[in-house]
Amino acid sequence: MPHSDTQPCAASAAPMAIPGHIDPVVTPREITPRADGRIDLLGLPNRAIAEIFAEAGLDAKAAKLRAKQVYHWIYHRGVTEFDAMTDISKTMRPWLAARFIIGRPEIVVSQHSTDGTRKWLLRTDDGHEFEMVFIPDADRGTLCVSSQVGCTLNCRFCHTGTMRLVRNLTPGEIVGQVMLARDALGEWPRAGAADLSALGDDLVDEDGGYSADGRLLTNIVMMGMGEPLYNFDNVRDALKIVMDGAGLALSRRRITLSTSGVVPMIARAGKEIAVNLAVSLHAVTKEVRDEIVPINRKYGLDELLAACAAYPGASNARRITFEYVMLKDKNDSDADARELIRLIKQYKLPAKVNLIPFNPWPGAIYECSAPERIRRFSEIIFDAGISAPVRTPRGRDIDAACGQLKTTAQKMSRAELDRLAEEKQAALED
Ligand code: SF4
Repeated sequence: MPHSDTQPCAASAAPMAIPGHIDPVVTPREITPRADGRIDLLGLPNRAIAEIFAEAGLDAKAAKLRAKQVYHWIYHRGVTEFDAMTDISKTMRPWLAARFIIGRPEIVVSQHSTDGTRKWLLRTDDGHEFEMVFIPDADRGTLCVSSQVGCTLNCRFCHTGTMRLVRNLTPGEIVGQVMLARDALGEWPRAGAADLSALGDDLVDEDGGYSADGRLLTNIVMMGMGEPLYNFDNVRDALKIVMDGAGLALSRRRITLSTSGVVPMIARAGKEIAVNLAVSLHAVTKEVRDEIVPINRKYGLDELLAACAAYPGASNARRITFEYVMLKDKNDSDADARELIRLIKQYKLPAKVNLIPFNPWPGAIYECSAPERIRRFSEIIFDAGISAPVRTPRGRDIDAACGQLKTTAQKMSRAELDRLAEEKQAALED
């Protein structure tokens, strides 16, 4: 769902087969030994770590204890070397290092916008590229996380939608994005800093407490490449680690999952993940939404809005966000704004609307609405008592559209990629 402020997205006109509530795509095994035989622990929950420690020869009690310690070091402290795990005996550490590693997605390109937005093109172990974006604001820092390499849903305003779906990302590749961002922002708890893990899930970060120490990364949106509800299990498992007080300890109130409208999975998401919900609405009539968000042909507006109305936990304090990309002469009339208000009221939705100026990409078939049109659209919705801010486009100097970093990188020469890699290394050494 690429709909971060760094907006996206548009796509090919090719006919598509819309999958049902399960996307028939390849998901790699949860645990795949690397070529050297070692197992990457990134993305594994405490329970799975204990199991593989037991399989590797520890007795059940020792496996459980070591798993708890290692889990804490991996996710709460961000270490990538067993040698740094000071509460594990010096003789045990080489035993672990011989059998396991703590990985990260590989960074292919990282870019830094003049407005502070940062984008990374990442690569999986089997060579597939995907993106993540960090968007700093005055009062928060939001990481836009990908759930798939490419996407099966070719929403026509979305650049990622023009790409072939390659595969689902694993829990490690999803949680690994958050961990890479913390690496890059230097935001792991320092030795001696207060350890909040004992507070437990949901007691940390209620009011930004976990980030009151000046953290930059405060929020996560599952709005990068892919439809997160088509990779439900892996997204859920990754977010459970992100939300775990003993893990990355980010409150569910600071996490938003964005869907294009995979209606049968929305209730499960509310029950099993229970983060904030955002919906890529983008149109208020069947005709237009069928065109620009083709999953609408399978799950129509009424079904979608009814599922939103039933979303557990939605309230005025936790409103559902409707993303609405502003496309000139397509979905931006006064009548569209009024129909949007009518639908929100009809379904009694605790809602806010994010208006996103379309950010064209090469080959896009739409144009962005004029600024005064966007302003008027926003005013009409605000006048009805519904919040409808216009998102400021971010990171436009660094391939703003989601999915473009990948395309651009593919066009870069080897020399340019080497130069960027050198710059990245120099920045790391600073
Ligand atoms: S569902 Fe896929 S095609 Fe549609 S906006 Fe999201 S990434 Fe793009």
